[in-house]
Amino acid sequence: MSSGEEIYAFLIKLWPYCRSITGNGVRQTLHDIRDEINQLEIIEVPTGSKVLDWTIPPEWNVKSAFVRSLSGKKIIDFEQNNLHLLGYSIPFKGIISRSELLEHIYTLPEQPELIPYVTSYYKERWGFCIRYQDLSSINEDYYEVIVDSELKTGSLTYGELKIPGETSEEILCSTYCCHPSMANDQLSGIGLSVALAKYLLNKKKNRYTYKFIFIPEIIGSAAYLQRELPEIKSRVKAAFNLTCCGDNRTWSYLPSRKGNSFSDKVALNALKFLNQPYQTFSWNNRGSDESMFCAPGVDIPMVSIMRSKYGEFAEYHTSGDQLGITVTEDGLETTFQLYKKIFEGIEHNCKPISSVLGEPQLGPRGLYPDLSIKGSTTPVKDMLNVLSYCDGDNDLFDISNLSGIRTEKVIELLTILNNKDLIKL
Ligand code: ZN
Repeated sequence: MSSGEEIYAFLIKLWPYCRSITGNGVRQTLHDIRDEINQLEIIEVPTGSKVLDWTIPPEWNVKSAFVRSLSGKKIIDFEQNNLHLLGYSIPFKGIISRSELLEHIYTLPEQPELIPYVTSYYKERWGFCIRYQDLSSINEDYYEVIVDSELKTGSLTYGELKIPGETSEEILCSTYCCHPSMANDQLSGIGLSVALAKYLLNKKKNRYTYKFIFIPEIIGSAAYLQRELPEIKSRVKAAFNLTCCGDNRTWSYLPSRKGNSFSDKVALNALKFLNQPYQTFSWNNRGSDESMFCAPGVDIPMVSIMRSKYGEFAEYHTSGDQLGITVTEDGLETTFQLYKKIFEGIEHNCKPISSVLGEPQLGPRGLYPDLSIKGSTTPVKDMLNVLSYCDGDNDLFDISNLSGIRTEKVIELLTILNNKDLIKL
């Protein structure tokens, strides 16, 4: 079974939960992740806690929510699709007129066949989201509305998985877990994180410590940073926001705020050697946890390598963002392989320095063919090019970029050069 197939199967399990920034949907999602990887720590941050500039809101849970005609027919039902209920709807019970009901209905006229995903975390309201094409079926004078939700003192829940390495320097991978049933802009990042964590746990050893966090978007990163920032600030070597990584469309890249960090260098190198088109977005097009991690004073440079970026694909924040459409096994597999390569590069990163003065003579070291014939010297040329950049300033990724040789090959060549004492790592 490929990793893409395994991730996809796990996402089917997570699909139905009604996730939000707090509540049992996030908790259940985290418990399922812990069933896969038992080292996951689940942290509860109580309602009312101040986290950076934010305050943890009341915990939200839903038992049922529907709109029913007076003859008893449910015309909108949260049970059918959790996107039908406006996220964070306050409780409501009553019989109301059609016009009053319509004030609480949200649709997407430009995409009449899709249910929009709408939330109201920080202003109290209730509402239902439906397909625009179904609006005309709300044609009776009165309806019964039940929103059996609960907003109470509880907590915000997030998960943290630490995979210790030889050094305490960290590679931080963040993903959010606060969206209900949506595939690319939600489940893909969770699935990729779980698969990458399993891959790292199965390795004999890792040089770096890897941390995977599963957080409600934005406020979850504030909660995480409130607790961890002093500890991690100097430790994070690279940071990635794993999101929107499950389809098979064009790649997307969102840089860190400064755009010139090690995270940026690593990500751009990986994209360069994919030899596939990718779209580079500006920091001004951000919309996720990098806003918190890259904020002035926090300054943890976080980048995102995505497939179809949030906000940019037609199905984004609608019922069209579905497994099989915006997330495919193949899409997940290729993104997984890309991140594996990135981690391998980081694990082998070094700043080699030549140990001979001038260009070395390769022949006596068995590194140069004893017959010089036109067109037969590419491997030697690659080796000399790599060696020429071994000045103690360039790291593995610089050498790869400058020589035009992918990191896996540069690692091989550096190993040969090191074995022949031509460089110091
Ligand atoms: Zn979203």
